[in-house]
Amino acid sequence: MSISQHAREISESPTLKLNEEARLLRSRGEPVIHLGAGEPKNPAPITAILSSAAKLTTGDIKYTPTAGIPSLKKAIIRYMEENYDKVVAPENLIVSEGAKQSLFNILFSIVENQDEVILLAPFWVSYPEMVNMCYCTPVVVTPQDGTFHPRMEDIEPAVSSYTKAIILNSPNNPSGMMYSEDFISEIVDFCECKDIYLILDDIYHKLVFDGKKSPSAYKYSNKDLENTKLIVVNGVSKVYGMTGFRIGWAVASRKMVEVMINIQAQTTSCASVISQAAAEGALTGIQSVIESLRLTIQNNRDVMMQELRTFEGVRVRKPEGTFYCLPDFRAYNENSIELAQFILEKALVVTVPGKSFGMDGHLRLSYAGSVKDVTMGIERIKWALDPEAPNEIYIGDRKLIRDWL
Ligand code: PMP
Repeated sequence: MSISQHAREISESPTLKLNEEARLLRSRGEPVIHLGAGEPKNPAPITAILSSAAKLTTGDIKYTPTAGIPSLKKAIIRYMEENYDKVVAPENLIVSEGAKQSLFNILFSIVENQDEVILLAPFWVSYPEMVNMCYCTPVVVTPQDGTFHPRMEDIEPAVSSYTKAIILNSPNNPSGMMYSEDFISEIVDFCECKDIYLILDDIYHKLVFDGKKSPSAYKYSNKDLENTKLIVVNGVSKVYGMTGFRIGWAVASRKMVEVMINIQAQTTSCASVISQAAAEGALTGIQSVIESLRLTIQNNRDVMMQELRTFEGVRVRKPEGTFYCLPDFRAYNENSIELAQFILEKALVVTVPGKSFGMDGHLRLSYAGSVKDVTMGIERIKWALDPEAPNEIYIGDRKLIRDWL
């Protein structure tokens, strides 16, 4: 069988692989706790379900315009006004099969061989692979002050004549860090001066805690939408808990959107009309669903922080958004892949190795599940790693004794 070298070089998605491992273990009856989850547990909003079901029962399930159905685009335009204070035209907008496809469309539209795309560690796992798929080079910038907040002084030296774009994701998967207003204003200014694309992956922008608000990059741009190289990506997956519907979108200049439409038309044609109807239902329905999800997750974050603070040797920064945190486990093992495997084998807890996000020695822990998942999950990890923790534990109905410390 002949498979291209290029395709062979694309690595599998570690998070989707872990979902599959957890599913297989559960199907064998193993009492697995999934602290690797990248999706909230809530059911889709009722308005999304009704809108999607209503479309389905018409039986009129056909292709839609490539960039999305006009009524959904209208709902997104309103979302842009309400959340970004930005007026955009339907031609500035393309709906895709998830923010993931939007990001790929963007990269494919702007990069050429040899171009570089700057990623800020810790970064979302798919960015480097998408850049590689476009035959370009990801350049990773890691904050040199040991925090998860990027600094212009680290980014500037990484920019060269090959730099085509910088990708920002705030609030950030995996760290839960939200980038400051000052930083957003500086980087928008920097990219505009250097004529570099700034791709803002805002998929978690409304899952922010403690009364804070995620800054909008548009506020600091000196260019109008038709001349800007700012591109904002968003979607319904995270804030409405609608990951399975696969709807995301990108907002950019008309010229950029035209190119992305051609790419999408030749690859997937359009997002499913049933999912587009669901997204429209969510966006035009009762918005308090987002607030109740946000409050649940904020409470879970507090429980997670409380549990981790009593964990000897583990250092963690309090997340300001998302449903992840990225504690430092280097006191136990510098190799996060080995550590995650050990925790899964011994304690049946799924975690995601920080190495996949450019931060080895850390584990991404998700608090998108229940409070019970968080407390039991951390108790099990402590039992597996911390000699001070009691050496007996019940996992399901099995009593286990730790004999390796
Ligand atoms: N960006 C980030 C930072 C994400 O965490 C995810 C989902 N894990 C996505 C994009 C993709 O979202 P979607 O489900 O809309 O494709």
